[in-house]
Amino acid sequence: LAEVLEHEQDLPSRTPDGHDMPLMVNTGLAVEAAASLKSRIGGVGLYRTEVPFMITERFPGEQEQTRLYREQLESFAPLPVVMRTLDIGGDKDLPYFPIEEANPFLGWRGIRVTLDHPEVLMVQLRAMLRASQGLDNLQVLLPMVTNVDEVDDALKLLDRAILELGEEGVTVNRPRVGVMLEVPATLYQLDALAERVDFFSVGSNDLTQYLLAVDRNNPRVAGLYDACHPAVLSAMARLAEESAALKMPISVCGELAGDPAGALLLMGMGFNSLSMNAPSLPRVRAAIRRVPLEAARQLVEETLRLDSPAAVRRHLNAQLGEWQ
Ligand code: PEP
Ligand code: MG
Repeated sequence: LAEVLEHEQDLPSRTPDGHDMPLMVNTGLAVEAAASLKSRIGGVGLYRTEVPFMITERFPGEQEQTRLYREQLESFAPLPVVMRTLDIGGDKDLPYFPIEEANPFLGWRGIRVTLDHPEVLMVQLRAMLRASQGLDNLQVLLPMVTNVDEVDDALKLLDRAILELGEEGVTVNRPRVGVMLEVPATLYQLDALAERVDFFSVGSNDLTQYLLAVDRNNPRVAGLYDACHPAVLSAMARLAEESAALKMPISVCGELAGDPAGALLLMGMGFNSLSMNAPSLPRVRAAIRRVPLEAARQLVEETLRLDSPAAVRRHLNAQLGEWQ
């Protein structure tokens, strides 16, 4: 099976009825594998910038960050690279920037931290912009957004960074900007967010955690953590539908996108692209190449009628078994 899948990797990610489903990768550290992946993907759907920050001894400076980001952007150019601004807090601590809180997942996380430390965000944005010079494949993604003021504040900093660089003689184009949909409140503010940014990316890992009120890393409640909970799936379906009505491109970069059954559901719901860890690509591509879009839509319809996570899993496994 592994050989069959490997052979298929150079074939398009297209359903038997001709629907193209762009697959992207999530990256963090190494880009060595990039060259071999490049012909097989639509780009980088999520570059987690906090990952390189986790292995340094202090915040990397602007030069160091520019070098890191340039490496990512160059390796995948001309494909787009979605760079997420620093998403620390929650379970991701930097050794040199400890955050101690009773409820870290409800606390100082992602954009909440970087807006409280605009000097950190400015260095990062300047480095991203400088790295993108002449390549123009940079897209910027804002994590853990809860309200539109955060987006406005981040955009102001982005504009200031572009202006500053211009004054220093470094002319850069304004990148496309997106918002992570992972805090449930954003589900109800899509139109206001769409007025401000260019694309949405669903963080299904956190959205699941927050919709179900289940810590994504706590083994005691791991049995309750399930992206196939009917409430999560119906939220996802709603996000895809409303984004389409708003003409906003929307992708998923959480683990659900890297699960073959999850990927088929997301395709059936109408998501425009899926971003996953590289090792998930072969199986997701194989699933997409075997299942017509119409069948995936049908699967969504059937699945959304089920009322428990277990029933959803049973149904998905049975269907997937039939298609293999
Ligand atoms: C997510 O929340 O689904 C996501 C992609 O981001 P992270 O796992 O880094 O929080
Ligand atoms: Mg997240």
